Amino acid sequence: MKFNVNTPEETMSYGKKIANYLKPKDVILLDGDLGAGKTTFTKGLAEGLGIKRNIKSPTFTIIREYQDGRLPLYHMDAYRLDDGSGDELGLEEYFNGDGINVIEWSNFIENELPSDYLKIIFKRDDSKGDNYRTIDFHPKGEHFNKIIKESYLEK
Ligand code: ADP
Ligand code: MG
Repeated sequence: MKFNVNTPEETMSYGKKIANYLKPKDVILLDGDLGAGKTTFTKGLAEGLGIKRNIKSPTFTIIREYQDGRLPLYHMDAYRLDDGSGDELGLEEYFNGDGINVIEWSNFIENELPSDYLKIIFKRDDSKGDNYRTIDFHPKGEHFNKIIKESYLEK
């Protein structure tokens, strides 16, 4: 399911909306080039979870944890990871834990991902302006298919 947006706020609103449907252990994969809107989307998602802290890109820290919302948010950036380094990082424990896992650049650890997840692909199209983005949702598994149906189909 694909949507067009024209402002960062609009991208955030998609994250905010989906936050209402999430439960512990959920894994959200955010893919797309630098500046495509992955972290912006995460800001909206965090807002939807009631997190008040400012969301910063986890590029250098790999994982940032936010505990002040309805559920913990584990925001990860896999750009610097090698596939196979999940153990070191305790990825499995995060996936089986008590919070929501949001992973930017998930393609770098594609062999370490669980079977069910919501993948979201962000793209720019400069011919349509600086702020234009497409946001494409690819749910895998029953839970995420249901979320997409309930949250977006009737938009
Ligand atoms: P990423 O995490 O994918 O590298 P960011 O979310 O950090 O991307 O950065 C996106 C940048 O693009 C921000 O500076 C944001 O303000 C800008 N931007 C402009 N239009 C949009 C839009 N429609 N959606 C998301 N970000 C946008
Ligand atoms: Mg980012």
